[in-house]
Amino acid sequence: MQQLVVQPDLAKMKLLIFDGNYVYADRFIYFALMQGLAKDGIPVAIANSVATEALGPNFVDKCEICNATRKGFSDYALHGMAYSTKSNLYKDLGSKKDGKRHEAIKQLTDTYTTALLTQLQLSTAEQQMLQNKLAGMRKKGMSGMNDKFGSKFCPSCDGATHTND
Ligand SMILES: [Zn+2]
Repeated sequence: MQQLVVQPDLAKMKLLIFDGNYVYADRFIYFALMQGLAKDGIPVAIANSVATEALGPNFVDKCEICNATRKGFSDYALHGMAYSTKSNLYKDLGSKKDGKRHEAIKQLTDTYTTALLTQLQLSTAEQQMLQNKLAGMRKKGMSGMNDKFGSKFCPSCDGATHTND
């Protein structure tokens, strides 16, 4: 079977992420998720259940990192075409246990953002800009967490900032 290989236009992607002195970190996360989910061939139904939080909460309301991650999952679910299941984490993405699901979302977000970061070949200054933006977004997002969430960490935020508490 022919594999659907995602070949993003990296130069264009970079222009959409870095606009002069402004960095769209949310776009960076969105692109990373779309690309990673497709590459891993995550089943569309599971991506959809993550996006719609069918099995329980996955994202913190009003958190920009969470919203970009969620949009990645939901758009992939709409347009994606799974061709392989290289990632074993997809089973945990469909778990009813909040902790298992959250850990899987965190790991995928971590892996996918790291992969895109490498591909974009950013300068040290650009990397710093992006990291600072993500750290600020995470801090803001974390302040919106409540007890009902099921985990003490935000999966998308910790994944995107490579945080391990
Ligand atoms: Zn978050």
